[in-house]
Amino acid sequence: MKIINAIPEMQTIVREWASRNVSIGFVPTMGFLHAGHISLARAAKKNADVTVVSLFVNPAQFGPKEDFKAYPRDLNRDTAMLEREGIDVLFHPSTEEMYPAGFATFVEVPGLQDKLCGRSRPGHFRGVCTIVLKLFDIVRPDIAFFGQKDAQQAIILRTMARDLNLGVRIEVLPIVREADGLAMSSRNSYLSAAEKKAALVLSRSLDAAKSLIDGGEMNAGKVLASVRRMISGEPLARIDYIEAVAPESLDSVREIAEGTLIALAVFIGQTRLIDNLIVNLKA
Ligand code: AMP
Repeated sequence: MKIINAIPEMQTIVREWASRNVSIGFVPTMGFLHAGHISLARAAKKNADVTVVSLFVNPAQFGPKEDFKAYPRDLNRDTAMLEREGIDVLFHPSTEEMYPAGFATFVEVPGLQDKLCGRSRPGHFRGVCTIVLKLFDIVRPDIAFFGQKDAQQAIILRTMARDLNLGVRIEVLPIVREADGLAMSSRNSYLSAAEKKAALVLSRSLDAAKSLIDGGEMNAGKVLASVRRMISGEPLARIDYIEAVAPESLDSVREIAEGTLIALAVFIGQTRLIDNLIVNLKA
């Protein structure tokens, strides 16, 4: 596996691949990799001739009071994991490389970026869109892989790719969970043992929502109330939002339907965790 730090070097390799008509699979990450990231890397490997994984903790998507500095990092471990997966290139630029002095251009998807996580993280999706567009332009992927864990992010990036004619196929893969149901996240490393146990209330409340819906409860208010009740019963949990929304507009729905996104963000102690469920009535 090649580790590339400089943008021009990445561009040279990409040009060489393009000259041979090699298809490029791409997985953008912020590192501190776990099985969720690896599922995306494997899908990329399976669906493209060459695979690039990027590792960049993007300051532009963190708010001033958020955890940019504290965000977990372990380049050696990440490198070894990607090496084992047979990834061709790890693209690992510095902050100065991506945001040199005088950097001034940002990409936004107003509306979608202001809902759900956007309400408590203003500017977050602007930072995400900007870095992903830059990465797409540098890596020129045919297919890019994202996780449903960040469902709103995937919806916004699909919109950006469509609106700007990026010509990238965007694939969204299922949430990878720990055996106990906790959605894998680099931020889980912040949790104490007690908090990790408390955090199970997120996936459990979504499981309960799924059971209600499977049992025929289509009233979104009732389903959300049950999720809220369960999470409120956990003393270490503080709810940021719990919503049932249409998957294209992210507008709240009254009735649960096929494809409805039930999304939540909950603080466990100081750590903000997200999880979600996409309603599948056919399963
Ligand atoms: P991050 O490093 O947190 O920015 O995540 C990089 C990519 O991995 C994003 O597309 C995430 O949605 C995806 N991802 C993160 N956690 C998971 C998970 N538990 N299961 C599947 N994909 C995930």
